[in-house]
Amino acid sequence: MDLHLKDKVIIVTGGARGIGKAISKALVEEGAITVIIDKSEETVKTLPDSSQKSHIFKADLTSYNACKDVLNEIVEEFGRVDGLVNNAGFNDGIGLEHGSPEKFIQSLNNNAGHYYYMMHYALPYLKESKGSVVNIGSKTSITGQGNTSGYVAAKGAILSLTREWAVELLPYSIRVNAVIPAEVATPLYDAWLKGFADPQEKLKQVSKKIPLENRLTKPEEIANTVLFLLSDRTSHTTGQWLFVDGGYTHLDRSIS
Ligand code: NAP
Repeated sequence: MDLHLKDKVIIVTGGARGIGKAISKALVEEGAITVIIDKSEETVKTLPDSSQKSHIFKADLTSYNACKDVLNEIVEEFGRVDGLVNNAGFNDGIGLEHGSPEKFIQSLNNNAGHYYYMMHYALPYLKESKGSVVNIGSKTSITGQGNTSGYVAAKGAILSLTREWAVELLPYSIRVNAVIPAEVATPLYDAWLKGFADPQEKLKQVSKKIPLENRLTKPEEIANTVLFLLSDRTSHTTGQWLFVDGGYTHLDRSIS
């Protein structure tokens, strides 16, 4: 199926690693002009050779001024924005008992703040293109995880904002959807596993609880759904939360 993404200018936040990198690669393969915003420049070296169509902009998205500046730079270079994937995020483990009010607010800013900042500054261009937006959430905002109040509050807000923006932007035909992963094999996930005494054992335990094929989701499996939502093949889909999680959130995890 042709997704009609060729030459579309699509921004991916946190596109240098993990899920964002898989999304960026898939976009390049579809011929999109792929604009990555990340703290690291690693991606450019790792994208396929046909990647003249990928571009990286360095910015720390936790600052709204940085979001504004990088958006201006992107528009100056490419003249338009056809899509935005809000993906950058970090499960920073700011809990209730062992956290603090200051760290909680910081975590909200780090994980949800830039979704708003990027949308706010991209909006005039998305209005011109009738663009599509995909927000990456997390199953933790539905299931809870323990010891991570800041991250789950941010991810919950992202799901609510997906609905809120889908409604507010109806007059402009801008579609806004969310993709919700559960357990995905990425550098962030590896770092989390390394926090356990026996990471391999922990990985086995987690995999056993994922109903479909008892394995982690591959970043490419998230990317494929994101591209579908960005494309005009989903032209009447908005305000939706799509769980790409091997059934983790909704199916009975006690089945063997
Ligand atoms: P990852 O492997 O850590 O990749 C995230 C990328 O975003 C990294 O390159 C990171 O840079 C960058 N980044 C983070 N914060 C940034 C900021 N403030 N400014 C600029 N760049 C920033 O993470 P991932 O596992 O792919 O996760 C991507 C998204 O999926 C996140 O929103 C996460 O919450 C969500 N998610 C992941 C899983 C999972 O199992 N992996 C599950 C549920 C939800 P640095 O590495 O330099 O920090």
